[in-house]
Amino acid sequence: MSTDAYDLFVIGAGSGGVRAARMAAQRGARVAVAEVGALGGTCVNVGCIPKKLYSIAAHYGEAFEESHGFGWSAAPATLDWALLKANRAREITRLNGIYGKLLSDAGASLFTGRARLVGPDAVEVNGQTHRAKHVLVATGGWPVVPEVPGREWAITSNEIFDLPMFPQRLLVVGGGYIACEFASIFGGLGAQVTQLYRGEQVLRGFDDEVRNFLAAEMRKKGVNLRTHAEVQRIDRDAQGLRVTLKDGSVLMADTVLYATGRSPNTAGLGLTEAGVALDAGGAIVVDANYQTNVPTVYALGDVIDRVQLTPVALGEAMVLVDQLFGAGERRLSYDLIPTAVFTHPSIGTVGLSEQAARQRYGALRIFTSEFRALKHTLSGSDERTFMKLVVDAASDRVVGLHMVGADAGETIQGFAVALQAGATKAQFDATLGIHPTAAEEFVTMRQPVRA
Ligand code: FAD
Ligand code: NDP
Repeated sequence: MSTDAYDLFVIGAGSGGVRAARMAAQRGARVAVAEVGALGGTCVNVGCIPKKLYSIAAHYGEAFEESHGFGWSAAPATLDWALLKANRAREITRLNGIYGKLLSDAGASLFTGRARLVGPDAVEVNGQTHRAKHVLVATGGWPVVPEVPGREWAITSNEIFDLPMFPQRLLVVGGGYIACEFASIFGGLGAQVTQLYRGEQVLRGFDDEVRNFLAAEMRKKGVNLRTHAEVQRIDRDAQGLRVTLKDGSVLMADTVLYATGRSPNTAGLGLTEAGVALDAGGAIVVDANYQTNVPTVYALGDVIDRVQLTPVALGEAMVLVDQLFGAGERRLSYDLIPTAVFTHPSIGTVGLSEQAARQRYGALRIFTSEFRALKHTLSGSDERTFMKLVVDAASDRVVGLHMVGADAGETIQGFAVALQAGATKAQFDATLGIHPTAAEEFVTMRQPVRA
């Protein structure tokens, strides 16, 4: 056994792990990190970053078309999939290097390999055991594909970025963030996309009006979105992948993408042997300070399956480092998490849906606005924008703010500060707009559409 003694041993160099390791090392702690894959984890390698790059790529396709209305003409645009993949890969490699440098500059040691707990204060990597005062498990999650006959023909978001051939016919299964984003993105890149969702409407948990509006916009852009649709089996023949649905219909595809959720990466980590409690879904159970039932072992990020978002993993890491090596005063509220879905058009949202707000507050005032963005008066596109404010009638506080439209995430970020500060509708009304923007609608909605 090695005699190494670390203050903190982090398993997993993804969003949460790197942030915790770097911040702890900067505070003078002796820190080690083990990573089995590429530095930066899901977000950098197969998540947020490459996804957003492909979304930007898809928007260019649309921009070529829309520029005609503004007087531009050019030969029809075509996509070089191989070039897009190569440029994306180069950028991700650059980011991997930056993450490595962040760790080494902070003074953290990096071990490349699969790590597992071999005791409450011991981690094994590549046959070597390291002792640590605190162990942080930040191993993220992995896509789940249900037990459907022929599932071996399906891919997940892990594989979609590097498909050898561009999928001319893409079938997407699921109705969450990943399914909706990739249906939009690949539709925008030129694929014929069919999206199958088992329930009534995609994006369960989001505001119902937002869900309905987005679904209609996605259909307008050509995504064949089918609800109440479930796959019975997948077969392969000379024409491609033959997908049989439970209603008996058959669809042909080049690629079938399953985006049916992700489960925590806890298998093979030695957690149960070390006595660390997991919930029924395999997530590590932690208290408010990210401590497990084994006092030396902590966990955060996707592996605790609270909210699977990079800024949440980063925020949790900051709280933990403050607990272990700082004043212990930092807290993270899960109440007002702003989020964007990078569909085309995108969703941006912070606070409660109308449905959740009604349950919590009862009497509400609802303001909505739907319009054609200025750009589309000349672009020829029939895309529309939707905005919504959910106001608690008793306190006048804005408790939910939602948008479907271009760059919704960019718009919502600033409003998230307002909601965090407890802004009232009267304060929204007292705020001047920036003209001409879409965002100004949020401060000019005067008449509630319903109470
Ligand atoms: P991860 O980033 O997954 O890192 C875990 C790391 O642990 C990995 O590098 C893994 O290789 C490593 N590991 C696992 N087991 C071991 C082991 N035994 N030993 C050593 N290392 C190990 N979030 C957003 O906020 N915005 C977005 O736009 C967004 N888009 C996304 C798009 C997709 C397609 C996906 C899949 C996710 C997206 N997310 C997005 C979610 C975001 O990526 C995750 O919430 C975030 O990466 C979680 O960080 P983490 O540190 O918990 O785990
Ligand atoms: P989600 O949990 O968001 O969605 C899973 C979807 O798959 C749901 O529509 C669900 O349906 C459906 N589903 C689940 N099981 C089955 C099944 N057996 N058969 C058919 N459909 C099924 O997971 P994702 O994989 O989309 O994304 C994981 C997480 O990653 C997200 O929740 C989000 O936190 C994060 N993420 C964030 C992004 C962002 O910030 N922009 C982008 C991408 C991911 P039902 O609703 O009926 O349960």
